[in-house]
Amino acid sequence: MAGLPLECPGCGTGGAADERFCPRCGSPLVIAGASLPVDADPARARARRIHPPYADGPLVKVARAANQPEAELLQELLLDAGVPSLARRSGGFDVPDFLAMGPRDVLVPAGGAAVAGEVLGAREPRPPVARATLWVRALALVLALLVVAFVAVSVVAAIL
Ligand SMILES: [Zn+2]
Repeated sequence: MAGLPLECPGCGTGGAADERFCPRCGSPLVIAGASLPVDADPARARARRIHPPYADGPLVKVARAANQPEAELLQELLLDAGVPSLARRSGGFDVPDFLAMGPRDVLVPAGGAAVAGEVLGAREPRPPVARATLWVRALALVLALLVVAFVAVSVVAAIL
């Protein structure tokens, strides 16, 4: 793969200058042979955050974002968990590429799909059931205390 300007930090596959992700494992590509300090090179800093086992396997779709900014937010969440991802325009939406409109499929390597599911699942709003459960438990506790108090009063009254 010598001669290609970009390379994959995960598996070493080379990439053409117009590619952003490794065609083999989906990791963001970095400049081949770059010796920039880590913090000065965002691409390399991102690559360092990727957990290599999560970059293994064919790409699978894990989420559908409403638009490009939402897709980028999901990708950032995934990257925080060490999972590389890429966003691809969902099929059937013929909007020009430069527009940020239109849904995006978010794909991750199969090795990172389970973690991606946890990461993206955790951001779903909590069901209101949790609050109802708390309310029911509080009421049950109050009723239990009333029963105990009633029994105690009855026992005291019987003794006297
Ligand atoms: Zn790779």
